[in-house]
Amino acid sequence: MAKRDYYEVLGVSKSASADEIKKAYRKKAIQYHPDKNPGDKEAEEKFKEAAEAYEVLSNPDKRARYDQFGHAGVDGAAGGGFGSGGMSMDDIFSMFGDIFGGHGGFGGFGGFGGGSAQTHQRKFRGADLRVKVKLSLKEISTGVEKKFKVKKYVECPHCHGTGAEGNGGVETCPTCHGTGSVTRTQQSIFGMMQTQTVCPQCNGEGKIIKNKCKECSGEGVVYGEEVVTAKIPAGVAEGMQVTINGKGNAGKHNGVPGDLLVLIEEEKHPELIRDESDLIYNLLLSVPTAALGGTVEIPTIDGKAKIKIEPGTQPGKVLRLRGKGLPNINRYGYSTGTGDLLVNVSVYIPETLTKEERQLLEKWQEAENFQPNLSLKEKIFKKFRSLFE
Ligand SMILES: [Zn+2]
Ligand SMILES: [Zn+2]
Repeated sequence: MAKRDYYEVLGVSKSASADEIKKAYRKKAIQYHPDKNPGDKEAEEKFKEAAEAYEVLSNPDKRARYDQFGHAGVDGAAGGGFGSGGMSMDDIFSMFGDIFGGHGGFGGFGGFGGGSAQTHQRKFRGADLRVKVKLSLKEISTGVEKKFKVKKYVECPHCHGTGAEGNGGVETCPTCHGTGSVTRTQQSIFGMMQTQTVCPQCNGEGKIIKNKCKECSGEGVVYGEEVVTAKIPAGVAEGMQVTINGKGNAGKHNGVPGDLLVLIEEEKHPELIRDESDLIYNLLLSVPTAALGGTVEIPTIDGKAKIKIEPGTQPGKVLRLRGKGLPNINRYGYSTGTGDLLVNVSVYIPETLTKEERQLLEKWQEAENFQPNLSLKEKIFKKFRSLFE
């Protein structure tokens, strides 16, 4: 069977943004979810097809290969994800954390950890929450502790999360005797078969609530807020995410809390430009200072510094102040050294001149020493080129 175009599967254009692709997939996943279409084979196929399309289009590398080579560019190369056999339901459900996280759970099925065919007691998992934090380069250079007041579901203080009123409000589920799953014996073409499924009475929790807590209507969680302290390591960059485990929404019925994801935003420095762990400053020298040399003040991450300018400093020269950049951070959040501050020298040419200045310059114009020196010009160009190589 020929595979359908992935963009067509999700109903998005070839130029769709990552966000549009995510939204389109979420819509399809809800529409064709097996919990909503029990026993519907066609819906299941569509559900898998959408997941496969999303798997490829949500990954910039795979998407680029797909755009260039079509299905041949991603089949088999997906690293055991799919290809001939298609994605397994487990694979698909494992993608859900990413898609539905931070959106307050998901219908009847997103709230459970894992969500796929577990046969042991199930615990509710609270949704992940996202907050944004804006940091200055100074804060990034040292690392910082930030406090957030997060509005979220917290454990119900009245029932301490059980969802039950008073003692003895929770009972072991009589149908599954607390195991969370039931065994069914069915006649099939292979003979009698036993299958384990989630207990329909307790939804896999293994317990049922007799008297519901009046404060939380038996949910075990209420909407409230918590002050959370996030330790942001030095060296983070725009778009990075710091995960604070267990500080998302509380899980229903003393379940597992979700995580709080702190998304880093970077405040632009008025004078310094960040290039990974290096900082760049564009220094404008006057013509006389470039020619005569001197001392100038430049901004640094901690304030100001004075640097010496050699006589005859050329525009395009880059002065490197070692260790005056930002800490380098690896993917595990550990520092791996510090970058440099690069001072890029430019020379300021006045846009208008007084009569005297003009006369002065006209004299220089003829002086032999002011003619561009070819070997020097070459040297400057080499330096300039090395910046880009
Ligand atoms: Zn309660
Ligand atoms: Zn049960």
